[in-house]
Amino acid sequence: MANQMLASTVTRVLTDQWSSTLKFSMDSLFGNLRVNGYQPVVNAIAQGQITCEVGLSQNPDRVPGHYAEARYEPETRQLRFPKEQYGLSSPSEMFNIVHEATHALFDCQYGTPAGTQILAMDDEAAAFFAQAVYSRLASPNSPSFGWDIQLIRGDPIAEALKLADKIMGGVHGVNPTYRVPEQDVDQLLISVQGFYNLHGGKAGIRHVYYGLPARPGRPLQGALD
Ligand SMILES: [Zn+2]
Repeated sequence: MANQMLASTVTRVLTDQWSSTLKFSMDSLFGNLRVNGYQPVVNAIAQGQITCEVGLSQNPDRVPGHYAEARYEPETRQLRFPKEQYGLSSPSEMFNIVHEATHALFDCQYGTPAGTQILAMDDEAAAFFAQAVYSRLASPNSPSFGWDIQLIRGDPIAEALKLADKIMGGVHGVNPTYRVPEQDVDQLLISVQGFYNLHGGKAGIRHVYYGLPARPGRPLQGALD
């Protein structure tokens, strides 16, 4: 059942000054994966096309019994979190909201009724990069707003932070688009592969996005002849 408290927390995070202006592109992933703010996700939540739910669901790509802390489930277009207070007081929970919202954004941007396939490792690398950049943008303005979990060397989030620091380091000006060239993303991809066990044949595992349903009252594209 859609949870209103979570929906307002997610909406608040996705409309704050950092996520609403967060722009990046990753050259080698899915052709060229892009993030340009999260307004499509905010709109989809407002219209009930994406809902926020309490309780985790099994990811079919992971070992049986594994439940991620948070998840975007494209089949149902649900953002799922472990409790309704998620993201209210913990910065790293807010960073995780940006991670999951990045998957939801790709559903909005790239999803199609037939199903758009994005390599799981590309999808995850982009989501970790998004939350890393978000955390770096937010923290200097609010010193207490930093990572409140132990970062483990070599884990995707640690690698994503290293990459974010490298990419953001030389950039000045208002609202830049951070561009990640192909040669810089390798370490993050390797870390994601290790974390999600996407080795060998599993390296080809894809996430499938079906996009948002047509809104009521609007004719389906192509329904006219
Ligand atoms: Zn993810």
